Amino acid sequence: MNFSRVRHFCSAVLILALLLGLAAPAPARDLTPREEAALFSYTDLGKVDLSPKQVELEVYVSPSPELAACRRMIAQVQEQVQQFYARLGVYLVYVPAGPTPGPLAPTQRLRVELLSDKEWLDKSFKAFEVAPPLRLRFLQVCRDKCAYSHVPLSVTHISFKRFEQAQLSADPKDDSLNRNWLANLLIHELGHLLGLYHAHEFVNDPIPVRLPDKTPNFMSQKIAFKKTMGFVEFQRLLIHSYLGHGKVYQQYQAVGFDPLRYLELVKLHNGYREPLSQMAKMAQRVKKGSPKTFDDDDDDDDDD
Ligand SMILES: [Zn+2]
Repeated sequence: MNFSRVRHFCSAVLILALLLGLAAPAPARDLTPREEAALFSYTDLGKVDLSPKQVELEVYVSPSPELAACRRMIAQVQEQVQQFYARLGVYLVYVPAGPTPGPLAPTQRLRVELLSDKEWLDKSFKAFEVAPPLRLRFLQVCRDKCAYSHVPLSVTHISFKRFEQAQLSADPKDDSLNRNWLANLLIHELGHLLGLYHAHEFVNDPIPVRLPDKTPNFMSQKIAFKKTMGFVEFQRLLIHSYLGHGKVYQQYQAVGFDPLRYLELVKLHNGYREPLSQMAKMAQRVKKGSPKTFDDDDDDDDDD
């Protein structure tokens, strides 16, 4: 099995937007600096309604021949996705999914589209509003990606072909591992549509990449082929606050559901720090007089 690319499955919608120069983050709407700081502070999430929440979900599988394996896997995968979210108190109700989306809306009705590669590119160009002159650059940026979640559109686009070729095992003995990996991908992408950011986004927030017993966090990039994934209480609170139209929902509302702006404000008003890039790590080691060689294995770093 090729594990070398597994951590790159999911976007960096945000980085992508920056690279393409698409995002022009605006300040939070109608808020004074003081109100903005209070709204985006996670010192106090306010009262979070933890009662079970129901969310409608469309899972659309393209009729393209590229999706043959996906069609075989999807029923069991959908069940696994449902079981995971039930642990969070979120009840996914599958609704029929035709080629045209139903009335999608954040917190109410979400949609996952499993597409051929061409369909995925076309839909991604459209969703990111990539004009033809920028499409070549987009192709370079998304070379090792197979999924993009668009929070304002309530939809995730997955290129099943890319996922299958770069991520799945071709050995029939690995069928159930492959199913776990596809289920985990869907669970992770839905996490984005439910307002969550990556576990490796910040080094000093309450969301670790792994739980103390080494179970991978579902919003980390260490979820390939894993039978079980976990979450921390803070993530459960964030999801319920979002779905219950509490503080997290109000944060998203204030930024027009733009995850880039949301993340910037969360970072700013909570003093969260991003992990150092590989280059910055190397520079720091050189400065300390202990540069690692390229033989050193950084794979266990929790902050990549
Ligand atoms: Zn992701």
